[in-house]
Amino acid sequence: MDRFSRYVNELFLWNGQMREFLQSEEVGKDSELWEKLDQFTELIENTNRDLSTEELLDLQAKAEQIHEELEAYFNQKQVNEIGTIMVVEKPVPPGKHTLPNLPYAYNALEPYISEEIMRLHHAQHHRAYVNGLNKAELELKKARDSNDFSLVKHWSRELSFHGSGHYLHSIFWRNMSPNGGGSPEGLLKMEIDNYFGSFHAFKKHFSESANQVEGVGWALLVWSPKARHLEVLQTERHMLLTQWDTIPLLVLDVWEHAYYLQYKNKRSEYVDNWWKIVNWHDVEMRLEKAADSKWPAI
Ligand code: MN
Repeated sequence: MDRFSRYVNELFLWNGQMREFLQSEEVGKDSELWEKLDQFTELIENTNRDLSTEELLDLQAKAEQIHEELEAYFNQKQVNEIGTIMVVEKPVPPGKHTLPNLPYAYNALEPYISEEIMRLHHAQHHRAYVNGLNKAELELKKARDSNDFSLVKHWSRELSFHGSGHYLHSIFWRNMSPNGGGSPEGLLKMEIDNYFGSFHAFKKHFSESANQVEGVGWALLVWSPKARHLEVLQTERHMLLTQWDTIPLLVLDVWEHAYYLQYKNKRSEYVDNWWKIVNWHDVEMRLEKAADSKWPAI
């Protein structure tokens, strides 16, 4: 199957998911969203599989427009699931990463994380990682084009630092919710119990990992498709001490910029409070997707 028909198939799949999603969110049949989705369904159903590039780009633009409208609608309603369900899968060209919107308002996580921190953290720090990643990708493209790799070590480091910074923050925002807290359920609860013995034991391990990151970094709950179990890791800065071939599910930023304005040097108080805003629904959705990945046996 060529790339174009694969993309149209993805659109079909996505369209179906969106219909289910609107139904599950009980969006009224008279809503403009349904009308737009109906028009889109008709459009892709009448699409000839031998698309020209222009036709494909046109379809993609329409899909993105509906995506944005749906996202705006559900952001208003503070529904968090939208970002993990609605993924139009297309590659990001070099230098084209963008800062994702927060799935809630800057003050939504108060009193646990202040509006001031969230604003700085997202609009300044996260944006800097996006810009740094774009820059590194473009410089490495330049190196390939000119066959001059004299700075490849520098730009690879930048690629790793800013790329990890961008991807981890993108997970982090959705790992939290104003309606979060409590404890996990379903598949996630099962996998936590299987591997760590209990939620309590996992939480202790994760909190201690966060508290004891040396300098700046993260605590992460990851899935290993190879071992087929969860694991807790630390990372220094954004990219050191990682275990390759694992998929992050739940991440906690313990850089000072994530808590210092509010908690000063009391990192453990920040970590304790953070559990009250964990979005377990998001973590479980990430696990379900991650657990679908199966590597071939050796
Ligand atoms: Mn951060």
